[in-house]
Amino acid sequence: MGKALIIGCGGVASVAIHKCCQNSEVFEEICIASRTKSKCDALKEKLESTTKTKIKTAQVDANKVDELVALIEQEKPDVVLNLALPYQDLTIMDACLATKTHYVDTANYEPEDTAKFEYSWQWAYRERFEKAGITAVLGSGFDPGVTGVFSAYALKHEFDEINYIDILDCNGGDHGYPFATNFNPEINIREVSANGSYWEDGHWVETKPMEIKRVYNFEEVGEKDMYLLHHEEIESLALNIPGIKRIRFFMTFGQSYLTHLKCLENVGMTSIEPIMYEGKEIVPLQFLRAVLPDPASLGPRTKGKTNIGCIFQGKKDGKEKTYYLYNICDHQECYKEVGSQAVAYTTGVPAMIGAMMVMTGKWNKPGVHNVEEFDPDPFMDALNQWGLPWRENFHPVLVD
Ligand code: NDP
Repeated sequence: MGKALIIGCGGVASVAIHKCCQNSEVFEEICIASRTKSKCDALKEKLESTTKTKIKTAQVDANKVDELVALIEQEKPDVVLNLALPYQDLTIMDACLATKTHYVDTANYEPEDTAKFEYSWQWAYRERFEKAGITAVLGSGFDPGVTGVFSAYALKHEFDEINYIDILDCNGGDHGYPFATNFNPEINIREVSANGSYWEDGHWVETKPMEIKRVYNFEEVGEKDMYLLHHEEIESLALNIPGIKRIRFFMTFGQSYLTHLKCLENVGMTSIEPIMYEGKEIVPLQFLRAVLPDPASLGPRTKGKTNIGCIFQGKKDGKEKTYYLYNICDHQECYKEVGSQAVAYTTGVPAMIGAMMVMTGKWNKPGVHNVEEFDPDPFMDALNQWGLPWRENFHPVLVD
């Protein structure tokens, strides 16, 4: 079918690349390009004898538009799959515009010097992408990503109107460390130490970090504390789901994680303000990242399951209805299959599927769009086929 250029070669990219290599009919060729080329070469060496997909590698600084443009012109991919960090979203989108190449990512743009998550920067490219005749798919991970596809599916098949969405992200995995993050520590800590917020009756309601706590009994995981967080898909779903009254996002955290995080915050280690240390400017959070376990190393140690999904409440044929769509994923099964834990797996699989939707033309809508703006059906089929089968519950316990 075609060729994808994958930018970044960390935890999420490694899963997406394994999955592209399992799906050689669509991904006949891939080029893996990242800041550290040796990581791309190591993955190529591991995979090339196991797949028909032709693998190339390249070095690129994705902060530099001219380097990206040169690479895209050289490789001529059908789609660019951005699995670097959210800081690089805009430079990669600029390069896609300059070369008229489709774009897919998993996280919305964040300026490096402010922990602020919103789509405004990327939505500002809508008209330019539309005029160039290219499609940008924003947020094709699990959350955002599958949660948006679940919402579009629920609206298409189960409801006339959705009024309430609760997104529940439970990681019941245990890696045995007192404190470690399951994906890039810098991005993860910026996300969880920010104020919480939810969407209600047409406006944002802001909360203090971890201010709202609920307990939920997750299938195949058990009872967990979960906390309300701001999360980026709330912003797009509030626009794209007509009739919506409230959207909340909850994530589970264990007590050890929260106690360590509070302590690190209290001593200033989670700050993104640069400080001078022995004559050199350092950012405390980036230093912290350097001393924490690399999420990519958690695979062999993590046991347990993730359970992530959406509880919908709304109306069908004039009657009130509730519906829970979710996926359960086993850390050790993921590790056996692709050498990564389930958090990277549940993000990397939908990233591959998003790129596949664009390459096969199933999702083709010039402009800049969030996943819920496309037909959910081929994506939902692909989730079942490529390792993230979904489950339904028509009588879920609701979150108060
Ligand atoms: P990692 O830190 O493991 O990997 C990031 C990769 O990007 C690394 O290979 C890194 O290179 C590369 N990179 C960073 N800066 C540059 C640059 N300037 N130029 C080229 N390459 C660069 O992160 P994860 O794999 O954990 O996360 C990847 C993305 O997935 C993030 O945007 C994250 O927010 C998102 N995500 C989305 C989720 C979802 O459900 N939607 C869930 C989890 C993550 P190097 O190896 O040299 O450092």
